[in-house]
Amino acid sequence: MKSKYNNSVAKKYISNYAKRGVSKDLALRIYTTQLLGNDPTVVLHGGGNTSVKSSIKTPLGNQEEIIYVKGSGKDMGNIEEDGFPALEMKNLLNMRSLKELDDFQMVNYQRKYMLDTSFPNASVETLLHAFLPHKFVDHSHSNAILSLIDQPDPIKICKRVFGEEMGIVPYIMPGFQLAKKAAEVFEQNPNVKGLILLNHGIFTFADDAKESYELMIKYISLAEKELKQKSKSIRIKKYQEKKITASLVANLIRQQISIKPNAQIDRKVVYFYKPTFLDEFFSHPKLKQFTTQGPVTPDHVIRIKSKPLVIDLGTEKPSNVESKIIKAVQQYQDDYQKYFKRNHKYNLKASMLDPYPRLIVIKGLGMFSTGPSFKDAKIAMDVGLNSLSVILEAAKFGEFRSIPEKEIFKMEYWPLELAKIKPSTQKLKGHITAITGGLGAIGYATAQKFLKEGSEVILLDIVDPKRVTLDLTGMTYFQCDITSENKVEAVFEQISQKFGGVDILISNAGFAIQSSLDDLTKKQLDSSFDLNFFAHHYFAKHGTKIMKTQNMKGSVVFNISKQAVNPGPNFGAYGLPKATLMFLMKQYVVESSKYGIRFNGINADRIRSGLLNPDMIAKRAKSRGLTIEQYMAGNLLKEEVKASDVADAFYHLSISYRTTASVITVDGGNIESSLR
Ligand SMILES: [Zn+2]
Repeated sequence: MKSKYNNSVAKKYISNYAKRGVSKDLALRIYTTQLLGNDPTVVLHGGGNTSVKSSIKTPLGNQEEIIYVKGSGKDMGNIEEDGFPALEMKNLLNMRSLKELDDFQMVNYQRKYMLDTSFPNASVETLLHAFLPHKFVDHSHSNAILSLIDQPDPIKICKRVFGEEMGIVPYIMPGFQLAKKAAEVFEQNPNVKGLILLNHGIFTFADDAKESYELMIKYISLAEKELKQKSKSIRIKKYQEKKITASLVANLIRQQISIKPNAQIDRKVVYFYKPTFLDEFFSHPKLKQFTTQGPVTPDHVIRIKSKPLVIDLGTEKPSNVESKIIKAVQQYQDDYQKYFKRNHKYNLKASMLDPYPRLIVIKGLGMFSTGPSFKDAKIAMDVGLNSLSVILEAAKFGEFRSIPEKEIFKMEYWPLELAKIKPSTQKLKGHITAITGGLGAIGYATAQKFLKEGSEVILLDIVDPKRVTLDLTGMTYFQCDITSENKVEAVFEQISQKFGGVDILISNAGFAIQSSLDDLTKKQLDSSFDLNFFAHHYFAKHGTKIMKTQNMKGSVVFNISKQAVNPGPNFGAYGLPKATLMFLMKQYVVESSKYGIRFNGINADRIRSGLLNPDMIAKRAKSRGLTIEQYMAGNLLKEEVKASDVADAFYHLSISYRTTASVITVDGGNIESSLR
């Protein structure tokens, strides 16, 4: 590993941050923190932390010694000055004389000694930083360091690799006692350049930002070199891939972890990824022993629980594969409940978290991660990939060893760690919504609505992704010609691999051909049926196939349009497939209600969109002798109907759990096109 420190970049940080009133000390602290944080083999998702000791002038005019420490749960890769609360050094140092300090008191004091209480809580490792005398302190959970020290005899290894340059701190859960112990180890030999925290990570320190950062790089490099020289390679045994698709497995896992024992549904996301090291991983003879031990560093527990679920489909017959996976997921949940009961005595205040696995590794197929949202599942995947690669490298070097189960439990149920994960209360959390015509006015407004309500949102449209100009932050876009059934089927495979399944379909895409029936060609009518009828059918057919596998009900809403109910002249080519679409909705209701899947429709009219563009609006308004505003508000309520009004109707039908075969009118009032 090479140092990425660049003097001219460092100078730029100092001058740029100075314009925002940030001191040189803090600017350099931000710079090297970002350098460490941008390497996933060093720290991941809120792991690791850094600090700098400095002094500031208080409003009363005195100089005060302070420490800036990374805020708890903040990502080092993109941290800014608002991620570094400042605390009063004098008070923190006084705390060292205490014999005991429980976690709540520690957090409470850390808050009390902050200069600005609008900042986030400082890291749970704040006191460890404060008790070390150096100006800059850097802490990481580097993969190479962990592979080297998560071993049966780590002290011997550390002495051999680092000599006397590193102090060794035995495993203690983060908090006050660890901070005191680390300071004692340092004081026994104040010449050390850093500390190795067994089963946890590494600290380096210096009075200079560059030096402290480069010491971190130096010791990580030494660990990497040692691993490279002393590791045995694994003879890779090729595995036959099972004839089961990742998307089907994702659907099955999603069902198992989303349906609670009381039959209530709490939807989760399942994300699939196939890393390159899995063949090597599965070729190691002691894999099972190593993966069932525990985390590579304690703070991974909140993301991936203490261990992954590893499934070896081995010589399983293809017909048994599904039931084997279902049983394995159930067994994991049973084992988790036993683990909780066994260890509850170590934290009697804890109530059991959900028991489902966060990481499922299937031999010959790949890895699945799970979470209440895609973001959580992605974090679990990143942490899981890191964790498995640390275990693999540790296994090649020697024997992987984690912390005892009791310590894992204490960490998993530590309120200070749990505070980093806030459960969402949004109505559609864990839901997966796919929308066709997603880049159009109505589709995009609907996407924004569902995103706001907490759903994962997938947009389908025909436009090349490179040419999309809309802000798709937090959404997923798939280019898809939905008039091709094969392409629709393939896109649902991709949706299942990324999210685990689907719950809500907004079948919205459409286009209108203007022609009298006399002039209408067969080609024109065919193309209208392709998009305005068949595409809706393909989308519903393949989407509901997944819903049936998941067995968690679902909702489909079609954009049926006013034309199906109240035909206008020269819109026959549009109205015919739309009228058929209304029948399709009813036919699906008859055939799929037994699966709890609901089908409804929207009858919307006169919305500014691709179908009703500014030219058309101007022409029509003029031909009726109206202004554009009058034309757009030409309904009984005399108010323009917007794309967001249609989005609201899509949303309300999707959450009206006892409504099916219904068509909602969104047209501001038009008695000719009303349904009843
Ligand atoms: Zn740590």
